[in-house]
Amino acid sequence: MDAILVVNAGSSSVKFQVFAVRGDAGLDRLIKGELDGIGSRPRLRARDGNNKLLVDQTHPSESIPDVVTAMRIAGAWLKDSTAFELVAVGHRVVHGGPEYDRPVLVDRQILANLKRYVPLAPLHQPNNLAPIETLLERFPRLPQVACFDTAFHRGHSAVADHFAIPEQYYEEGVRRYGFHGLSYEYIAQRLREVAPSIARSRVIVAHLGSGASMCAMSDGHSVESTMGFTALDGLPMGTRSGQIDPGIILYLLTEKGMSPRAVQDFLYKKCGLSGMSGVSNDVRELLASTEPGAALALDYFVYRISLYAGMLAASLGGIDAFVFTAGIGERSPEMRARIARKLVWLGAEMDRVANAEGKSRISTDDSWVSLHVIPTDEELMIATHTLGVVQSHAAPAPQFARAG
Ligand code: ADP
Repeated sequence: MDAILVVNAGSSSVKFQVFAVRGDAGLDRLIKGELDGIGSRPRLRARDGNNKLLVDQTHPSESIPDVVTAMRIAGAWLKDSTAFELVAVGHRVVHGGPEYDRPVLVDRQILANLKRYVPLAPLHQPNNLAPIETLLERFPRLPQVACFDTAFHRGHSAVADHFAIPEQYYEEGVRRYGFHGLSYEYIAQRLREVAPSIARSRVIVAHLGSGASMCAMSDGHSVESTMGFTALDGLPMGTRSGQIDPGIILYLLTEKGMSPRAVQDFLYKKCGLSGMSGVSNDVRELLASTEPGAALALDYFVYRISLYAGMLAASLGGIDAFVFTAGIGERSPEMRARIARKLVWLGAEMDRVANAEGKSRISTDDSWVSLHVIPTDEELMIATHTLGVVQSHAAPAPQFARAG
C-alpha cells in the first residue's frame, strides 16, 4: 500500500503520521505517533487510525539526544511494525521566508535556501530541517515536500507585511510573516465544504492551542494575522508572551542585565498564561483553579482575543463569520462563550445550547455574524500538499522511485 509520512519535528519531540494513498478516495490516516522527551525522558507512542495503541516505549534518558536520532528510532519502528510503501514524506517547516508561498519538493539547493531562514526562526527551523537533510542523505530518491507555516500569508498587502522600520530590514527579511498557515489553509478548505456561503466572505479564524493566533480571511485568502516576524507576536499563549511593548525588552536587557538568550527563553517559555498565572499553561487547569492569577490570565487571554477581533475586523472592513479551532477553540465551550460575549458588538450572538453540545455552527439563526467550531488538521493538510506536489511532478522520473 502506498503511503505518505508526515513529520513535524520540534526541539523536544517529533510528531509523525502516516496516510494511505487511496486514489480517488483520498488519504486515510493509518498511524499517529510521537517521540517526545528528546534529551530528557524519550518515549515513543503511536496509535492506529482507530486510536488503538500500537506502541508505548520508554528509552534510556540519554539515548535520544536530538531530533535526528528520534527520527531514526521512530523510522525503525515504522519499518519493523508496518507494511506500507513510502512514496513521499511531507514536513512541517515553520519558515518559508519571503520566497516560498507554497509547498515545495526539496532538493539540496532548496534545503540550502531554507537554511538561510534559520536566523528568522532559530528555535524551530533547524529542527524542522534536520530530518529532511538526514533523509536526503540516506534516501536521495525519496520525494520530500516542505510545507510552510508562513506560506498561506504570503499574499498580504505591502502595508500588512511591513514594520515601520527602514526598508533595508524589510529587504533582508524582517517582515510580518504570520504563522499557523497550514491550519488556516485547512480551515479555509473545510469552510468551503461545511459553510460554502460564508467561505467566500469575511472570516476571522482563531487558532487557540498552546500556540495561538488569529487570521483575517477574505474569500479564503489570508489578509492579516496577529503573528508577525516571529511566532511570539499577537495573542498570549501557553508560555509565550504575545505582543508586548518592545520597550520591555530594552528594559530587561539594560536594567535587569539579562542576556539576549535569557530574554528569548523568558519570552518563549516563562510568560503567557503560565507566567502570568503562576499556575499553569493549560487552560483546563486555569479554569479549575481558584488562584487569582489564573482568573487574571484567562481574562487577559479573552480580552486580547477581543481586541484583535476588532483589529482584524478593521482589516476586512467588517466580518461575516468567526471560527474557533485548535485545542482550546475546539474543546472548551466555556472559553468560546467568554470570547463570544466580547464579540456581541460585532453582531455575533451565540447559541448557548449549540455551543455546550459542541455543534459545528454555534450562533443563533438571527446572528449577523455566524460562529463556527471547525477542528483543524494540519497533518492532513501537509499530506494533501505532499501528494499534490508529488503528483504534479509525476512522470517516469527517477526521483519518484520508491524509498529503499
Ligand atoms: P498545540 O498547539 O500544542 O498543537 P493544541 O491545539 O492541542 O496544542 O492545544 C493544546 C491546549 O488546548 C492545551 O494547552 C490546553 O490548554 C487546551 N485544551 C485542550 N483541551 C481542552 C479543554 N477540554 N478545555 C480547555 N482547554 C483545553
